Amino acid sequence: MSAAPEDLASQDWDLVVVGAGPAGAATALATLHADPSMRVLLLDRADFPRDKSCGDGIAPHVLDALASIGVRGVEDGWTPLTRLELARGELSVERPMARPVHVIPRQVFDHRLVERAVDRGATFRRQRVHSVEELPAGAVVVGADGAHSLVRAHLGLPAGRRALAIRGYAPTPPARRGTQVIRYGERRQPAYAWAFDRGDGLSNLGYGELLPAENEGDPPSRALLLDQLERLLPGSVAAGEQWKGHHLPLSGWRWHQPDGRLLLVGDAAGLVNPMTGEGIYYAVATGIAAGRAAVAAGRGQGDAGALHRAAVRASLGRHLKHTWTASRLAEHPVIVDGGIRVARRDARVFDELVELGLGDGRISGRLVRGLAGGLGRRAVTRMRGSR
Ligand SMILES: Cc1cc2nc3c(=O)[nH]c(=O)nc-3n(C[C@H](O)[C@H](O)[C@H](O)COP(=O)(O)OP(=O)(O)OC[C@H]3O[C@@H](n4cnc5c(N)ncnc54)[C@H](O)[C@@H]3O)c2cc1C
Repeated sequence: MSAAPEDLASQDWDLVVVGAGPAGAATALATLHADPSMRVLLLDRADFPRDKSCGDGIAPHVLDALASIGVRGVEDGWTPLTRLELARGELSVERPMARPVHVIPRQVFDHRLVERAVDRGATFRRQRVHSVEELPAGAVVVGADGAHSLVRAHLGLPAGRRALAIRGYAPTPPARRGTQVIRYGERRQPAYAWAFDRGDGLSNLGYGELLPAENEGDPPSRALLLDQLERLLPGSVAAGEQWKGHHLPLSGWRWHQPDGRLLLVGDAAGLVNPMTGEGIYYAVATGIAAGRAAVAAGRGQGDAGALHRAAVRASLGRHLKHTWTASRLAEHPVIVDGGIRVARRDARVFDELVELGLGDGRISGRLVRGLAGGLGRRAVTRMRGSR
């Protein structure tokens, strides 16, 4: 799927999407679902299928969001995962998840989405965009160009907190079949290793951690990331291959999108869950919102940027505040331990934590009460012990 670079202005486009990952493909799909007559150009510097460093975990919310724009079956042929293990040191909880997750290599998943967008009428062109000025003046432009987005840089939006993670693939040991394993480490939180069974004999394994802010120290090296992975999931590094790292732009307290015809989606919009590093759901959800905003703006119903901002804040705004708060609390190991203990006692809290980490859930009263009760009991035990 490739096309020769051409002069972008040589044809009239209603919508130009820079980047054809899940955010860009979802933008094109949602636009053409809302209005099949829209002329949509989907640009990517890579040809598809292409690899992307990722845990490959596709939350059920991603499939729901795609179904809402008539896209079904992108998970066909991949085995759903039903169990999740969360652990820190000796403490762990393992339970079935309320809804299964799929682990689909991005080489497959992203390609399927781009194919669906092209089937729906989008034009895909392999082309690296060097500056926003080279894009056609009349069109709405969607920056879906990932963690190092040039569209975001053009808008002058600040980069928020970032994490760095590395992933590889290794055979799945029998004990981990059908399971997603997450083991928290000791370094800058969020810091954890994962092993996600793909269901085809291989697992996606990796490790990631929060990057230090500027002037706060050096970023972790590849060797350090692999060393942490090996500590938390012994045997992974020798068994694994295709190691590949990438930045994760973590979402903050408030999400920004200026007025105008330049919209941001997915990683380019700084939207990765700061608790879990999951970003595909946000990418697809904001891609859909941007597609709808572009169509509505084309019909004279308002400014594209303002419409997009309102839609994303309405659907994700409160959730983003809750994940920001949860990720700040989780910087304290005692809170992570407390969360694991409550999730072990209470299946509903376990499900709520999964919703917060994978979808658009909130911090529930039940979780707060469970955490507070656990911390209170530990304080009383410590006081008794010190008497
Ligand atoms: C190691 C790791 C593990 C992760 N695990 C998970 C997980 O298990 N589940 C989950 O939900 N999320 C996970 N994430 C996050 C997830 O990978 C991202 O949130 C997701 O890829 C965002 O999709 P996107 O479409 O916004 O960006 P991307 O998937 O990065 O796509 C951006 C596209 O833009 C193109 N592009 C960039 N610049 C240009 C340019 N100048 N011109 C043209 N094209 C350009 C790129 O080639 C690319 O195809 C993980 C991330 C990492 C790094």
